[in-house]
Amino acid sequence: MNEKGREWEEAVAGRSAPGGGCPSGLRMSAVMRRKILVADDNAASRELIREVLETIGYDVVEAADGADAVARVRESAPGLVLVDIQMPHLDGYGVLRELRADPRLARLRVVALTAFAMQGDRERAIEAGFDGYITKPVEIAALRQEIERLL
Ligand SMILES: [Mg+2]
Repeated sequence: MNEKGREWEEAVAGRSAPGGGCPSGLRMSAVMRRKILVADDNAASRELIREVLETIGYDVVEAADGADAVARVRESAPGLVLVDIQMPHLDGYGVLRELRADPRLARLRVVALTAFAMQGDRERAIEAGFDGYITKPVEIAALRQEIERLL
């Protein structure tokens, strides 16, 4: 693994600056802080979120399903992941479980995206371990606020 990859692993695992710096104790490089992975099986939804994020200055990596999302997190070292709950093969909860099962990714910020916002959905997502929750269609201000809270 190269130096950049190692730095990312240490940062998401929270080892490089225990308790120091940002509130979560997670120390991220400027590059990580600017990179967001968007996992959504709906191409139009993914594209819309990409446009919004790029407009406000983030670099975006896309994934079209849950398994793709897990693989791309490992190869692209994002600072935050937005995960659609309803996806084929591996849904958003499955993606979260896989990421959290890896000690190196246990503290990576993962935000749930859902088109079926019903009462209790947010609580269920937070209880499952998501760091945040955004409903679709995505409102630009809400998306921006949630990301800035976490990054
Ligand atoms: Mg979906």
